[in-house]
Order: sequence, then structure tokens, then C-alpha cells
Amino acid sequence: MTTENYRLSKTIHPLHYKLHIAPNLKDATFRGSLEIKCEAAEAFSSIRINAIELVIETATITDPSGTYNANITYDTENEMANLDLEQELPSGAFAIAMNFTGILNDRLAGFYKSTYRNDEDQIVEIATTQFEATDARRAFPCFDEPEMKAIFEISLEVEPEHIAISNGAEVSSVMLASGKKLVNFEPTIPISSYLVAFVVGPLEATTPREVRGIPIRIIHRPGWSHLTTFAVEAAAHAVEFFSDFFGIAYPASKLDLIAIPDFAFGAMENIGAVTFRESLLIVDSANASQPEKERIVDVISHEIAHMWFGDLVTMKWWNGIWLNEAFATYMETLCTDHFDPAWKKWNTFGIYRSTAQTTDSLHATRPIEYPVAHPSDCQGMFDILTYEKGGSVLRMLERYLGTEPTRAGVSSYLRKYSYANAETTDLWDALEESTHAPVRSLMDSWVFQGGFPLVTLKKEGTDLIVEQEPFSFIPGKPEGSAIGEIWSVPLTFRNLDDSDELNTYLLDTTRAKIADSSSVPTIINAKGDGYYRVAYSQELIQEIIPQIHKLEELERFNLISDSWAQVVAAKIDYLGFLDVANALGGQGPFLESPVWAVVAQGLEVASKALGSEKSEWIGDIAGALFRPLLQVLGFNPADDEPETTGVLRSQIISVLGTLVKDPEVIEFAQSTFRSEMSGEATMEPSLAQSILRIIAANGDEADYAFVLDKYRHPSDPIEEQRYLSALSEFTELPLIERTLGMSLSEIRSQDAPFTISKMLAGATSGPIAFDFVANNYEALASRFPESTISRMIEGMAVLYSPEISNRANEVRNFLANVRIPETGKKLLQIRERFEANLALSNRLRSQL
Ligand SMILES: [Zn+2]
Repeated sequence: MTTENYRLSKTIHPLHYKLHIAPNLKDATFRGSLEIKCEAAEAFSSIRINAIELVIETATITDPSGTYNANITYDTENEMANLDLEQELPSGAFAIAMNFTGILNDRLAGFYKSTYRNDEDQIVEIATTQFEATDARRAFPCFDEPEMKAIFEISLEVEPEHIAISNGAEVSSVMLASGKKLVNFEPTIPISSYLVAFVVGPLEATTPREVRGIPIRIIHRPGWSHLTTFAVEAAAHAVEFFSDFFGIAYPASKLDLIAIPDFAFGAMENIGAVTFRESLLIVDSANASQPEKERIVDVISHEIAHMWFGDLVTMKWWNGIWLNEAFATYMETLCTDHFDPAWKKWNTFGIYRSTAQTTDSLHATRPIEYPVAHPSDCQGMFDILTYEKGGSVLRMLERYLGTEPTRAGVSSYLRKYSYANAETTDLWDALEESTHAPVRSLMDSWVFQGGFPLVTLKKEGTDLIVEQEPFSFIPGKPEGSAIGEIWSVPLTFRNLDDSDELNTYLLDTTRAKIADSSSVPTIINAKGDGYYRVAYSQELIQEIIPQIHKLEELERFNLISDSWAQVVAAKIDYLGFLDVANALGGQGPFLESPVWAVVAQGLEVASKALGSEKSEWIGDIAGALFRPLLQVLGFNPADDEPETTGVLRSQIISVLGTLVKDPEVIEFAQSTFRSEMSGEATMEPSLAQSILRIIAANGDEADYAFVLDKYRHPSDPIEEQRYLSALSEFTELPLIERTLGMSLSEIRSQDAPFTISKMLAGATSGPIAFDFVANNYEALASRFPESTISRMIEGMAVLYSPEISNRANEVRNFLANVRIPETGKKLLQIRERFEANLALSNRLRSQL
């Protein structure tokens, strides 16, 4: 099909929708009526409008000369309806009126049905929307392209006892003769159709909290109001933070944050009516770990950043979705860092950057921005490269330009394009104006080519030389590789003396001298925010390792993370990685969880690759590194310790209880779990995840039964997720099979793809989960939301146990033949990661 057939005519623009919707939750249907005031730039006799899975019963067109019936036909392939007139109407103002019906689907897209169990254990229904990217057309006929901004004036006809929420504030609520309640909402500012939302059903709203004149509420299942305090606090903080940062008032008149029991994504930035997965909004903060709380603050901050960047100013077309999401990711991190500086958010962001670089080290990576003709092509943009790579590249740019000039440029961009649409280059122009730096040429090298460079530092005589080369896990450059050649790298470097002097150098050649060599070792990517990996010559790394205590936390994280990436890429051997890990152990203790997360990852990969034969050897290495840390921290939190210490303790206990199989740690986990089972005591929240992991790794049928019961009757959605995660970590065959079976029935379709993905990654469960997915693929793919299918299969990228080495062709065959709903490079990426990991595990088996 050609692009033109898919695109709307540019000569007709909607201005104002008056939309009335009456859902029937029992029948899972709805009916609606709609009047759209439009402006035609040319005379017309036909209108193409987006609509799919809708029956348009009547359509009339009214202009100053009269009202005319339109003949309705459907172009299902292009998700359009044609409204044809017998006569031609002149350019100018006109209105379309329509009556239509539709279905509330169960695929978590468009206007759909979600359910939960109430206190009487009955299943109750709500109806809710998720429109991005192109599913508004499943709920009402509309001009469903981001540039077709219009005002939306919405009314909902609902059961009298039900709540009704939409983007605008409620202006009136009247009882109808039918016994139903009619709720009218204030018109929105001009917005794109993908940002419209309505939610209806037996839900409750908290008492509004006013921040800068904006009432903030949490909408939730009845009985959960005591679990909303933390979300209100995070939302209030974000509204204030962004109002000040952008220097522009919050662009709507109210803010509702709505917890939806079934939700395909994390959250959705519908203006004034943001929808969330329950576990990303509803929490007992006294019973949550720091990372669980941080995730909630991240997501709330991200969505509220979109109220300005995305909703007030919107991309012209879907190729711009990356900037929308990358910017929100960058802003979320700034905002969370401000919410609680003790969390050291930019250090944990280092982990996200490194995870993005994992995908970006594949020849099957993609440029951040690429042409999008058909809107379905943009589905592939909702991935780690858009969010985490995009956010990292913006952070690197901000550090290069300076925070204040960056803020000023962003603010002027938002002012200039408020209520309208913009393109990526409009932001670069605004930043060039505020900073006088070559922003566009610098960013083009990161945005329009995939991959990133490995920057090597070495001494040559009296010179310090840097060189850049493309980094990849699989060597060479196969045909079709999307990894670029050369980048414009805003390099930072400093000497490990006692001064704090930071030097910068814009490296846009393959090789350059950056300084005279000195007797004090020099590090590059100083301060740690660059989106590149670093290698040092053998001579330099030997100078740096004894000085590792002089690095900042993020620099130390990068040193170990870059070492590990080079092991995966076969650039250094495993013992080189252990050298750095041992230095961390020897010179510390560094009580830094991101750093130790990389060490733990390196040990876990080796353990899985080597299999049971060498598990004791790896266990000894892990024990030598992690036991001293436990001796420093102890099993129980000190009253005055920072929350991040709890994160590290949890990692230590997890490694010691699973990889090392330390009897004392296992006994600690089991006795804590027994107290939880008997109701004597509850688990320390920061340790709950690790304790459950150890229980599952060593657990039996009785443990499983308790975990399952807690999953079914959790105290809040976070606890539900914790216990679900534990269900995926048992290692006895019947228990693995039981959890897999539940993914076809009991586990919500929003969660099950991730449960399977995790089980694919497990050393014991991996091969069993692979067979399960291969044998049940059709059933799984038809049950889960389309956007999550590739997330499920992603777990196959880390199948590399010795058993899988012998069955590699089965995995290759599956990945070569499987069909997934989304377009883009996801499957190619999974295949390449599978091969890279297989090669790594074969190397480790021969080396170690
Ligand atoms: Zn977003």
C-alpha cells in the first residue's frame, strides 16, 4: 500500500470535536455521537477520516448552505472511512456529525475493557483507553495524525455509581431519564488525537491536592486510597519542578493519575488524565524498596514532563517520537534526581545507558531517528534506543552545552511551538541560538547513525593520543550493519591528581592528540556522562587500577562496565575483567550498587555459561568479592544508613545466596521467609526481592504454594509484582512448568510476556521456557498485547547455557521463522544477541 493511501488529506483540518460516548461494560460495547468542526482549504465532495472496528450509522455534513447526508464506505486496509457527498462543497468552515458504535476489546489498545476482583471476590469491569500511536480511531472516527490538533469537548454517559474521567475537568454531572449519569468535561487545549483519554467504571478518586493552582488526584480501585500518598507527593514535586524548569505553567487545568488494572505499557501521557500500570502508581511506600520507589518517581516524572514536551508541543509526524520519549527520559532523570538527591539518580542512569549500549553494539541496531512512512513503522521506536540511548545522548549534550543554556534553549523552543507541532531540528535550532554551539552537526552523528564509538586512550612518546572506532559485539562490519563509522564525540578527560580540573575536546576525527602525557594517570569520559565506551592501553590501565579509589562513582561504574562490554566483544579476556573487579574489592569498600551490579552480572554470565561443573569455582570468586561487603554492611539495615545501602545489601545477599550458595545467607533468607509465612514478621522491604530469589532458587512445592498465595492476595501491586517475579525463579521442573502454564491463563496479559521473558533468561528454566514458547506461540501471541510479544521473545537472546549450545539450531530456526506483530529490527537484534552470547559462552568455556 502506498503512503498516500494511509495519510489523510492535508486540505481538511479539524478544529473542535464534540464527542459523546456511552459505554456498556456488561456487553463490552459502546455507542457514540460526534460533531467535528472543520476547515477546508479547498472545495471537496468527499472526506477521508480514520476509523476501524467502528460502525458509523449516520454521517451528515453541514456548511452555511445546508446539511447533506454522506454515503459511508470503509477502507479497512488503510483504517479509513470515506464520507462521500453527491455535491461539491466550497472551501471554508463546515461540520461533520456522526453516530457510531464499537466494541470494548480485551487487547489493551483503543477503547478496551479491564477487570479486577473486588472485595467480594467478584470480577468487575472498567472501560479505558490507550490511543498512542494510532488507536484513537478504534474509539471514534477522527483525524488520527499528530499534526491534526484540535480541541476536544467530551461527555460520557455512565452508570450513576461509576466514576468518569477524561482529559478536561468535570464541569457538570446530570442524571438522565434513562437512569444513567451524563458527565460533561471542560474542553481541552488543542491536542493530538493520540492524547485523548476516557476511563469509566467502579473506581475511586482521592481528595484533590492543589499545586500551583492545579488539583492533583489519584484514581484507583476502591479501598486503595491509603496507597496513594507517595504518588501524590511525586506528582506534586514534578508539577512544580517542570513549571520552574520550563518557565511555563502546567498546560491543563487539572491532573488525574489513573491506575489501570490491565495496561500494556508503563504509563501514557494523556494530557490531564495520565494512565498507569497499577504497580507504577499505587504503593505502600513504607513497604517498598528504594528502587521500587525510584521507578515510580521516574515514571510519574516522565509522564508529567510530557505535559509540556509532547502534549503542549507535539511532533509533526511519528519519526519525531524518539525526541518526545528521549527528552521525557532525560527530564525524568533530572526530576527524580531533584526529588531525592541521596538516590544518586544519575549513577543508576549509568546502568540504563549501558543497557542501551548492549542493543546498540549490534549490527542490527538502528539510528535513533529514521524515516517513518506508515505509522506502524513507528512501533519499533518504542524501545531502549529511543528512551535510554536518546536520553543519554541528550544528557551528554547538556553536559557539553551547560545545564542553564540547555534549559534556556528548551524553554524558548516550548514557547515558540506551544499548542502546535515541531520537528527535531527545531529544537537543535533553539539550542544553537541559546548556546552558539554547533548542536545540529554534533547531534546528527549520534541521531542519524546507529552504534557508538569505542574511544581508546594511549601514550605515544610524550603525547596522549585518543582514537575512535565503531564498537560491536560481533567483529567486522557485515553488509547491512547499521553501526556508523565516526562520531562527533564531546570528550571529557582529567588527571587523577587532586585537582578537580575537567578538560574537554571535541573529537571528530579517528585520531587526535589531546594533551601531553603526564606522570599522573589520565581518564577519559571524566564525570561519566558520555555515550561511548572507553579502552585504555595496557600501560595506562595498569596505572589506573591502583588509583581506582580516585575515580568518582559513575567513573568507576563505567570502568567496570566498559571492561565487561569488552569481554563480550572479545576485546579483553575474562581475567582482565576480574582484575578490575578485584581492584574494586581490594581498594574499597566501595558501597556503590551500580558498580557491584556489573560485577555480579559478569559472574552470573560466567556461571550460566560454564554450567554446574565450574559452579564451585565461580562461587569461590564471587564469595571472595562479596563476603567482605556483607561483613561491612551486615544483614540488617542500620537506622541512619542511606537507602542506596539497602540496594547494595540486597545485591550482596542475592549473589551470596544463589551463586555462592553461602549456608549462612541461605539460612538467613529461609528464616526470614518462615517468619513471613507464619505472620510473625514482615520482610525488610529492601531485602524482599533477594530473599524471595534465594527461596525460589532453593525452594520446593510448599514454598511455591506460599509464594503463589501471596501473589494472589498481595497487599499492594508492588508486592504482587515481587511474588510474581519469585514464581518465575523456582528451579524444580514441575514448578517451572506450572508458572509457564499460568502465563496462558491466570497471569494478567500485561505481565505474562515479561514473566516468560525472565524464565527464558533463567539458567535452569531457559530451555524449558523455550520449548513452551515454541509449542504455544500462537496461543501466547493471541492473548498478549501486540506491543509485548517481542518483549517476551527477547528473553531468547540470553539463552546460552551448555544445554542450549547443543540445541542452538532449534533456537535459530524458531527466531528465523516466528512472526511478530511489530515491524522494525527487534527480531534481528534478538538473533544477533543470541549469537553474540553463544560465542561469548563458548569462549568462556574454552578460556576458564
Ligand atoms: Zn514517554
